[in-house]
Amino acid sequence: MKTVLITGASRGIGKEAALKFAKEGYTTYLTCSNSIYQLKEVKDEIDAMGKAPCYIFQCDAKAYDKVAEMFQNLPPLDVVVNNAGISFYGLLQDMTVAEWDQVLNTNLSSMFYTCKLCIPGMLSKGAGRIINISSIWGNDGGSFEVAYSASKGGVNTFTKALAKELAPSNIAVNAIAFGVIDTDMNGHLDANERQALIDEIPAGRFGTTKEAAEMIWQLANSPAYLTGQIITMSGGF
Ligand code: NAD
Repeated sequence: MKTVLITGASRGIGKEAALKFAKEGYTTYLTCSNSIYQLKEVKDEIDAMGKAPCYIFQCDAKAYDKVAEMFQNLPPLDVVVNNAGISFYGLLQDMTVAEWDQVLNTNLSSMFYTCKLCIPGMLSKGAGRIINISSIWGNDGGSFEVAYSASKGGVNTFTKALAKELAPSNIAVNAIAFGVIDTDMNGHLDANERQALIDEIPAGRFGTTKEAAEMIWQLANSPAYLTGQIITMSGGF
């Protein structure tokens, strides 16, 4: 039975990806930082499918010791989806150092921790797929989202570099740079801001979590020769 670890799976894109992999028969290992009750509901939904086991962990993705402790309970993984992430909206000059560290550690350092710990298992299997969740702001930079953009830009080059390191070992490393996906992460937008954003998206709408999960699934099932890519899925934004 194939195995997948998805970080930040209590809601949004991570939750939908977890449901998709579980539906396809993967054993799922899911994490969250502070929302274990929500994650338990995801597990209940997966258990009700009756397809494959689901294991949940309250594990702060930016705390290396916690992640290492969790990995002691994981088998070698087939797929890792580095999805946990936070946004920060505001002017850079008003951002505190603690807020900067929080964004960079959650969105970027967490990828180092998970990858460092999952690679030995993938090497032992002779195969693996690492999928890092990025953003269009990591490609282009977004106003009022400097730290977030820097963290996702880091994710993009982390992905390209690690892909080169792991290609000889049949482990593919790719990122998906999503545009605006309709999740709680965009919950701070009021109706007018939401509409203004939609007006800028050629597809005329936000993406759905189902579309995001489908993209993650497709990438997990692509040939390993597809590696080191930042696949942008943004409705043309
Ligand atoms: P969300 O806020 O709905 O979900 C985020 C998930 O990450 C939650 O399950 C949360 O518990 C988890 N999380 C946050 N900090 C964590 C930590 N320290 N340790 C473990 N888990 C943690 O957000 P979403 O929209 O589903 O975003 C998922 C990913 O997609 C993020 O990396 C985000 O940057 C990226 N993304 C989202 C959008 C969008 O428009 N929604 C666009 C581009 C990229």
